[in-house]
Amino acid sequence: MAGLLIEGATIVDARGERSGDVLVREGRIAEVGDVRTATDEPVLAANGKYVTPGLIDCHVHLCYEGGPNPQVMAKKSDVQLAIEAAAHARATLLAGITTARDCGGRGFVETQVRNAIRAGIIEGPRLFTSGHPIVKKGGHMSYYARQATGPEDCASAAKEQIGMEVDWLKVVATGGITSPNVDPKVAELTEEMIRAVVEEGRRAGRPVAAHAHGGDGIRNALAAGVRSLEHGTFLDESMLGTMLREKTFLVPTLVATRAMIDAGTAKGVPEFAVRKASEIDPIRRKAFAEAVKRGVAIAMGTDAGTPFNIHGENPKEVALMVEAGMTPMQALEASTTTAAKLLGIDAEVGLVEPGYRADVLLVGRNPVDYPEAFRTDLAAVVQAGRIVRGP
Ligand SMILES: [Zn+2]
Repeated sequence: MAGLLIEGATIVDARGERSGDVLVREGRIAEVGDVRTATDEPVLAANGKYVTPGLIDCHVHLCYEGGPNPQVMAKKSDVQLAIEAAAHARATLLAGITTARDCGGRGFVETQVRNAIRAGIIEGPRLFTSGHPIVKKGGHMSYYARQATGPEDCASAAKEQIGMEVDWLKVVATGGITSPNVDPKVAELTEEMIRAVVEEGRRAGRPVAAHAHGGDGIRNALAAGVRSLEHGTFLDESMLGTMLREKTFLVPTLVATRAMIDAGTAKGVPEFAVRKASEIDPIRRKAFAEAVKRGVAIAMGTDAGTPFNIHGENPKEVALMVEAGMTPMQALEASTTTAAKLLGIDAEVGLVEPGYRADVLLVGRNPVDYPEAFRTDLAAVVQAGRIVRGP
């Protein structure tokens, strides 16, 4: 693997700001500081620019197309989904997302995409997948998810996903926005059903992510011992206390409701989805601000692929988290070190330090002063030492 010298940058990561060069060898950061003497490596000039860790999106759906209604997926073959998911993975990487967790696909297409990326056949972020979401019979996303009828069936469902070599398991604890006839406030899988998945996952070393909006569902998921709570709309004081105690991560996905509201029925988003998104958006922003204040671990996630939440526009979430109550440095941590911790790879990615994987971005403006910079001023994307998007 070729080396690279990123010369004359200001380095910005969760440890703060400092100036220096970044020497990359064999896909890893070998040295940071004044390393200009070691220049038989190709040089990426970075004067006046900022080097940050690659961003981590902990909630994408590579099988979703980002069109007005995700249920069109039901009409697509696995082959079609695979071609689309591969393109979505590439767009995600080129946007500066060097690592991502897929929170639900169909036919293990997203897991095959992961394998193809790993084998160097296609380009995409380093990917963690969760297979089919496990849902209540007839519940949210049942048009493609694995529907389960009780704790025993939930354990079987978990085993099926694990058997296909997913990295995570995904459960749906409440209704959601994008399916008709379900209410985000209403609990779906019971605590016992979620616990059956958590226990199966624990035996196989697979943590569980829980989709949850309403309070009853959030309580069920937290009591069952999930690792991350997705969305977390109706989080209250006592649930936030449980998250702190149990070290549960929150993945807020603020951009998802915003994208549906902005596009609206004018662009074809179903009326029921716009209505639910509009109702939920202010509530989840308040819960998010409270979670930030209480110091709950928050990992960046977008729900990319949901209506008009386009693969490749993921860094929008960074600026939205700042708008909703984080400092820009907190948003950077959520998108790098904290996300890496959720995925169990924090010793390897998330910082610009010797020994870390050379997943770094070159940004034209300082994201700590200007959190939109990842989207508006991204100059280069380096993945494991290879320039995948160049200046
Ligand atoms: Zn999702």
